[in-house]
Order: sequence, then C-alpha cells, then structure tokens
Amino acid sequence: MKRKNQKNSFFQDGPKGLVVAVVLFVVCMIALQKLVEFTGEIKSLSYTEFQKQVTSDLVKSIVVTGQDVQGSLRDGGHFHTVIPQNAQDWSMLNEHGVNVTVADTTGQMSLLYIVMIALFFIGLAVLYFFRQARNAQNGGGGGANIFNMGKSRAKMFMPSSIKENFDSVAGAAEAKEELKDIVDFLKNPEKYRRLGAQMTRGVLLVGEPGNGKTLLAKAVAGEATCPFFSISGSDFIEVFVGVGASRVRDLFAQARKHAPSIIFIDEIDAVGRHRGNSHGGGSDEREQTLNQLLTEMDGFQTGGGSVIVIAATNRPDVLDKALLRPGRFDRRVVVPYPDLKSREEILKVHARDVKLSPEVDLAKIARGTPGFSGADLKNIINEAAINASKANQEMITVKDFEEARDRIMLGKEIKTMTQSKQELELTAYHESGHALVALMLPEHSDPLHKITIIPRGRALGVTHSLPEREKYTQTREELLAKIKMSLGGRAAEQLVFNKVTTGAYSDFVSATDIARTMVCSYGMSTMGPVIYNQGGSFEYSQKTAERIDAEVQRILDECAQETMQLLIENRDKLNLLATTLLEKETLFAGEIYELLGIAAREEHKFA
Ligand code: ADP
Ligand code: ZN
Repeated sequence: MKRKNQKNSFFQDGPKGLVVAVVLFVVCMIALQKLVEFTGEIKSLSYTEFQKQVTSDLVKSIVVTGQDVQGSLRDGGHFHTVIPQNAQDWSMLNEHGVNVTVADTTGQMSLLYIVMIALFFIGLAVLYFFRQARNAQNGGGGGANIFNMGKSRAKMFMPSSIKENFDSVAGAAEAKEELKDIVDFLKNPEKYRRLGAQMTRGVLLVGEPGNGKTLLAKAVAGEATCPFFSISGSDFIEVFVGVGASRVRDLFAQARKHAPSIIFIDEIDAVGRHRGNSHGGGSDEREQTLNQLLTEMDGFQTGGGSVIVIAATNRPDVLDKALLRPGRFDRRVVVPYPDLKSREEILKVHARDVKLSPEVDLAKIARGTPGFSGADLKNIINEAAINASKANQEMITVKDFEEARDRIMLGKEIKTMTQSKQELELTAYHESGHALVALMLPEHSDPLHKITIIPRGRALGVTHSLPEREKYTQTREELLAKIKMSLGGRAAEQLVFNKVTTGAYSDFVSATDIARTMVCSYGMSTMGPVIYNQGGSFEYSQKTAERIDAEVQRILDECAQETMQLLIENRDKLNLLATTLLEKETLFAGEIYELLGIAAREEHKFA
C-alpha cells in the first residue's frame, strides 16, 4: 500500500494539482478584488486642485515618488496627483502641516509587478481548468500530454524489475496455495485454453492492511514472470465525471498489450462500493468507474490475452455484488494476521539483512508479538536495527527488540495486545467451545477446518468449518447441530469462567435465525407443517406470533442445555484444546484430531 508521486511537476495530475489550482485561483481573485476596491477610492486631482486643497488645510500627508504623489486627506479620503518637475512648494506644504514622505521610485513598480504576477497565475489556473475539462470529455486519449487526466496512473513493473516471488512471502501458506493456480495459468495459458477452460479473471485478497496483500500480488507476477500494473482504487476517482472510467479503460488496454499480465487494484472498495445510493456527482463518477471495470472484466472473455486482476480490500462486505459474480472477482483469498509460526518466518525473512546478536531468538519475539501484521514485524526489525546503530553496537540485542516492540505497540492499537491475557483466554475457550461441539456431533455437523484466536475484522477469533458438499436439503438434526455449534462458544465461557460476555452476539443471531426458519419455514416444530412468512404476505395473528416465539425459545433452550451437557462431559478435551490454542493461536483440523485423540473424519484423511 505504498503510493508514490510519479511526477514532481507543478501540474501534477489528480487531487493535489487540482487543489493547488483552486487555491491559487481564489487567492488571485481576492487580491484583484482588494486592488480594485483600493484604487476605486482614490481621487485624481490636478496640480492646481492639489495646491488649493493644501492651502485650505485639507491635506494630511503625502508620499512623493518621483513626480507622482499619493496623499491622504484629513477627512480620510485618498487622492493622487502629478507635480511638475521642479515644484517650489515644499515650504507651503510645511506651513500647512502636511506630512511629507519621499519614496524611492522602485516602490511604485512593485504594485505593477504584483498585478502582473497575479494575472499570470490566473492565466495558468484558467488554462489548467480548460485542459482538464477537455481531457475528461475526450476520455483523455491525448498522447504525450502533461495534462493527461484520463490516462491510467498505474505504476508498471516489467518482469526484470520484480524481485518478489513466493519465497519473499513468509507464512501465508493457504493464500500462496490458492494463488498457485493463477501462476500456472499465466505461465501456460495454452494448457487451459486448449480444452476451453474458463480461467478465473479476478482474485480478491481480503485482509487487514500490512499483511502482505500487495506483496502476494507482486509475488504472483514474479513467479509468472509477467508485467505487473499496480494502482489504488482511489486513484481512479476524480471530480470530473468520466475520468475514472477512462483511466480504467486505459489501464486495461495497456495490460492487454502486455498480456499475460497482472493488474493489481489496492483498496478496491474505493470504487467497488455497492451502487444505488447515489447523491450527487461524486458517486455518479464512482458508478461510471465501477461499470467500466465490470465491462473490462467481462471483455476478457472475447478480448483474448490473459490478464488477471487481483484486487485487495479489508472491507469485502461493502463491495457491490456485481463485482463478486462468476467471471469477475469470483475467487476470494483471505490474507489474515500472521499466526505464531508465520510471525517467526516473517521475522526470519526480514532479519536476513541485519546482524543479530546470537542470543536473539526470533521464535521468542514471535511469541511476544501477537496481533502484529507482517508490516509491523518488518518494522520491529528495522526499529531494533536503528536502536542498535544509534548506540554504536556491533549487533542487535534482545533489548533493542523490546524497545522497538514497545514503540510500535504505542504507535498503533493492536487488537490482541489490547486484549488482556484473560480476554485472550476467554476467546480461546469460546472458540474451543464451538469446535468441540462440532467434533462431538460428527454425523450432523460440517467438518472443522481450523480454529484461531487471531482476530480478523471485528471478530476476535474464528472457527471455520467447511460444508462437506453443496447441500440442497438439510435434516432437522443438521440444523440442530448448527445451532448447538453456534451456542458452544458462550456455553464454554459460562462453564469455565462462570461469566458471560458480549462476544457471542453474532453466534446468537445465527442460532436464532436457524431456529426461526425451522419453525416458520420448514415445519420442524410442534407448530406442524405450516409456513409463517415473516413480514411477507402470509399474515398471522398475534396469538400465532406468540406461539412462534415460544417454539423458537424452546428449540434454543433445549439446544443450549444439550450443548452445555456436551461440554461438561468433555471438559478435559475443552481444557486441552483451549490451552493449546492459546499457545499456538491457530490449529488445523488434523492437529486437533491428533491432540484430542479423535479419529479423523473421512474427508480429512487425505488432507
Ligand atoms: P497490504 O497490501 O496487505 O497492506 P503489504 O503487502 O503492503 O500489505 O505489506 C507491507 C510490507 O510488510 C511488505 O512490503 C513486506 O515487507 C511486509 N510483509 C507483510 N506480510 C509479509 C509476509 N507474509 N512475509 C514477508 N513480509 C511481509
Ligand atoms: Zn462465537
């Protein structure tokens, strides 16, 4: 997420140049206004009139610049006059109490200079505006024009200048695995085209800043030795409608010319927010840009050439659904905060170029930095190196690392670090509760994938399960198992700590949703085979509403009880799982089976 200014020219494109132009314009207008006001009040007097005014004691002071005289009257007025070359009236001025100042002739010029400079800048500002507006209309195809608004502002990297490859990305094994296909496709497009396979065109990298999304995208280009175009979503957006769209067009045209190639769009949410809530011009522009992006991505089908678009965001929830449709960004790769092992690997990668004292143990530092992003870890090494250099040390010591860590933690709010030890423990038990319930109901629950206490987005921890197959129908038992799994988090908290927290809110939302559809849509309750569509066209009485609520309540209560029972019976497993999770932060299904001595599920045996 680094942005560099490509041009230092005064006429830099984009928001900065625009702001400069606007400010300049306004300042000039104000200056001119003042000047007009000022000169408007000055009376021009003839020499005779001037003499009369003096002898009538009306003149307070004058400033003489050569033959030119600027003066003030006692009533507050101003005047201007020209006096003869050899005026003899100095004594007369004295007699009438006029205060005389004689100024250097150059003073007079300066006013003229100011006006000329102001006019010059106004001219430039006006010119700039016209150029911009014209470019916006043309879609900005205009060759080597320094005003090229509509040109894509992507940075282009040719393969020879890309040093990153998958080895530069430490940890992130899952993300790399998923991106390998893309590399293969870029390297051997023929292999796929031969059989008419439709390759993915868009990959969405989802994760918090600093966790290596940009790095991963560039590494894909490095692995595939193809050109890499990098741009940020916000770079597309300008005040002028049509500029963003033309930049998109230009970018894709360039990428196609260099196919196979990769386009990387950082912060895609800047353009990709869902449409339809437009107020005024700004979002009009954004919509046009988004539409152009969709058009370009669809165009790959016919346009030939293999261009892959990789986009990054930490807000996938706000993206327009149209972006996520098949053929567009239909692959989602999560780039999470690094877990313990990944943190150690990232530290190792960045410690290659520095001198560590032998007692520095990177594994230990990894343990002390939960919630640090890849960028934070790179930073900690750098800060430690700076510390050591300042003190003229030969090598970086443990103390340098401690200081660096403290500084970085002060500078930013790191989620797991702001969680106290107790809170982390609570999260570990909460997630273990979910997982254990899933494991104890093997016939009906989805197989577990992994559990983690590394925060992601707003969730403190996550328990992932993978649906076994696309299921079109679900049994009552499966739905009940889902409810119990949702309730397992809170149940574990209650059982172990005998206190409840707000952390289970979204679990309850999903549990209640499932229970309600069981009653209202699937006829899976004592209400019998009836459909009660809520808020829809199926009306029902207040009394029925009360019965529905009671049924939902009953299902949830029963599930909660059974969940608690299950955890009580398996308390030892719960403890083992939670303490191990606390230590390792992330556990995959295989590790969990081994840890708990449970037979692996069929679908995990080959993993
Ligand atoms: P994002 O695009 O997700 O905000 P970046 O790719 O810009 O993150 O990461 C910033 C820097 O942090 C990278 O240039 C790299 O030096 C470092 N970094 C992040 N993740 C990793 C990783 N998994 N391995 C090695 N370095 C990393
Ligand atoms: Zn939960």
